[in-house]
Amino acid sequence: SKLKLGLTKTRKGITEKIDSLMKSYVKVDEEFLEELEEILIVSDVGMNTTMKIIERLREEIKTNKISDIEEVKSVLKRILEDLLTTTKENTLDISPSPAIIVVIGVNGVGKTTSIGKLAYNLKRSGKKVMMVAGDTFRAAAIDQLKVWGERTGVNVIHQQEGSDPAAIIYDAIQSAKAKKTDVLICDTAGRLHNKKNLMNELGKVFKIIEREYPEARKEILLVLDATTGQNAIQQAKTFKEVADITGITLTKLDGTAKGGVVLGITSELDIPVKFIGVGEGVGDLQPFNPKDFVEALLS
Ligand code: GDP
Repeated sequence: SKLKLGLTKTRKGITEKIDSLMKSYVKVDEEFLEELEEILIVSDVGMNTTMKIIERLREEIKTNKISDIEEVKSVLKRILEDLLTTTKENTLDISPSPAIIVVIGVNGVGKTTSIGKLAYNLKRSGKKVMMVAGDTFRAAAIDQLKVWGERTGVNVIHQQEGSDPAAIIYDAIQSAKAKKTDVLICDTAGRLHNKKNLMNELGKVFKIIEREYPEARKEILLVLDATTGQNAIQQAKTFKEVADITGITLTKLDGTAKGGVVLGITSELDIPVKFIGVGEGVGDLQPFNPKDFVEALLS
């Protein structure tokens, strides 16, 4: 499947190692668990999350007197699936219309690309979509969003570089209302040099949305780059302090063996991953589903 293909490098890291570990043991014992622990740690699952997984596995093995390796694998799958499932849905909450999706994240993580792909997907599903170039600090970000607008046939509201992000989002909301748009997707600036700045900038945007578009369902999507591994978790913690993030988009999973970071993100932050990026093309943003992900990882 396309998901398996996108996870090729991660699968090489985790799947192959776990497979060969399972082949080299007939029965599970403490040594097996230690080796598994090491595999998870080097696969960027993260220390805390790895400990959590191993603890649960040890417990289940003990309580249910499991020794068969195949059985251990299915228990492991269940534990991972459970970790990837938060108390919140993995799907976007954008119906009924109107809805607004504010996309946040550090520069370079794939924010603009993800917005373009998301616009494309939503348009294909029959929604009337509009994008707004709210990252006014970089001329390149505005131009890039315009290119995605042309590519997807989705209208892009923009002003020149240096204009006030809150003002342009105000304009976009009026336009979205006038045109009866189903989903307005907002790009935002991703300068993370200090938390106070970020809080001020995003705060203004959220305030405008609250005042001008209270009827809209609101999603705040944080974009993280999987290739940065544990750094992505750190970024997520910082953004969580300044915004009520409703979901995560994890990009560039195709380019890294660090796909295990998905487990760390969900278990440490309790924010659902809603999309994963597995390539640069317009069709390469996939809805995230815990079961499918674990199946692709440990099949
Ligand atoms: P922004 O600065 O956060 O808006 O980042 P961009 O959207 O400009 O993306 C930065 C680079 O990452 C671009 O070259 C994108 O094509 C690339 N990119 C984004 N998402 C993915 C993905 O899922 N897979 C791969 N391989 N590349 C991606």
